[in-house]
Amino acid sequence: MALDPIPFLSKYASFPSVSTDSTYAEGMKGAREYIKDALAGLGFDVEEVATPKHPIILADRGPDREDVPHVIIYGHYDVQPADPFELWKTPAFEPVVRDGRLYGRGTADNKGPQAVQLTALSRLLEKHPDLPLRITFMIEGEEEMGSPSFPGFLKKYAERLSQADMILLSDTGSPGTEQIVVTTGLRGMFGLEVTLTGPAMDLHSGVNGGPVLNPIQALTELCASLHNKDGRVNVPGFYDAVVEPLPWEREELAKLPMSEQQYKDLLGVPDFVHPGGATALELVRFFPTLEFNGIGGGYQGEGSKTIIPAKAFVKITCRLVPDQDAADIEAKVRKTLEERCPPQVKMSINPETGGSPYYVAPPGRPNTAPDLSPVFARACEAAEVSIEKAFGKKPLYLREGGSVPIIRQMKDATGLDSLMIGLFTPRDNLHAPNESFEIDMMEKGIAAYEGILHRLAFGE
Ligand SMILES: [Zn+2]
Repeated sequence: MALDPIPFLSKYASFPSVSTDSTYAEGMKGAREYIKDALAGLGFDVEEVATPKHPIILADRGPDREDVPHVIIYGHYDVQPADPFELWKTPAFEPVVRDGRLYGRGTADNKGPQAVQLTALSRLLEKHPDLPLRITFMIEGEEEMGSPSFPGFLKKYAERLSQADMILLSDTGSPGTEQIVVTTGLRGMFGLEVTLTGPAMDLHSGVNGGPVLNPIQALTELCASLHNKDGRVNVPGFYDAVVEPLPWEREELAKLPMSEQQYKDLLGVPDFVHPGGATALELVRFFPTLEFNGIGGGYQGEGSKTIIPAKAFVKITCRLVPDQDAADIEAKVRKTLEERCPPQVKMSINPETGGSPYYVAPPGRPNTAPDLSPVFARACEAAEVSIEKAFGKKPLYLREGGSVPIIRQMKDATGLDSLMIGLFTPRDNLHAPNESFEIDMMEKGIAAYEGILHRLAFGE
């Protein structure tokens, strides 16, 4: 029996599987058991791989033979916290259908796309019980906390996973059902927390003010030095490895149904900056950033307190693009900070783990990797045909501004490339109150996935 996607997803999304908060352990377990049962019901051999935090589900199905394509389908069963709960029109973990959408935390990110994949597969298996396709579902429970256990898991499982030909996933976005995006690149990222320490304790600004360099002043001057007037990052060598977008990538971007003005209105900003003269939409997809995510120091309470604070800190993250290397750029930013730090304060830098960017151009483009796996190439073709058939329009091939660290980790550890089909949209309220998944997207997505898996198995 084929799965019924709406009841399936409603039940899956009713488990409050919030990975970052240990009080949701029961919800995590519920979601895990539910998806494991669904996979077992479709004939998968299901395995739960223990990690230091939340287990990863690995499930295999189909003939294990050289001549049969082998696809890993990635997803995550954990969700973002749902608070503030009072902003939800209906309870976050009691999914309901309203105005053509299924509302509930995780319905779009990422349980809905899994409902799409499993329903498509169940329909296909009904017609072809001996489907000549090997599928491994790899569903993790720590995506929303940055997948901290994934590198350790990969160390143990890389060899087994590298038996596959490619990875298929839907954990990226598209403008809407009128235009599906196949994501060709993800930005990398790393973070640094920088603390400047001056005096051993907060000082009286009258008794000691004058000779002591204020750590907040030193920090803000240091921060201000990290960008030029035009907005480019002012760190020597920062842009050296940046690969400028090719003409075909700019052409694809131009087809995106979003103008700079619409983008501005969406974000509610009065105007944009244009470092290096690039457009706003280009800057998000093709160029790196150095961002201040938080800054603090000194007295934050009511009224005034006349001190020279002992410390000030800033949290910095950089988003990276091909071919920037996370370790190399991190070293360059550190060196710059150290060189520019005045001698009157001491600096300490705490790194946050990060990763390098990922990129794969679809076959037939001038920057396609020469060693692209034939199964991956076939899947790209299958996706183009099936998406056009289901949604009425060919997909756009675009890089995305966000980061999905496991994609690059998988590439490095197993050599596998990822075909990323965007099934959620800006209207789905990801990570926000009233998250939802559009029923129309679900139905068309199922048709597209069924077509892709069919073409992978049978070549047509
Ligand atoms: Zn996600």
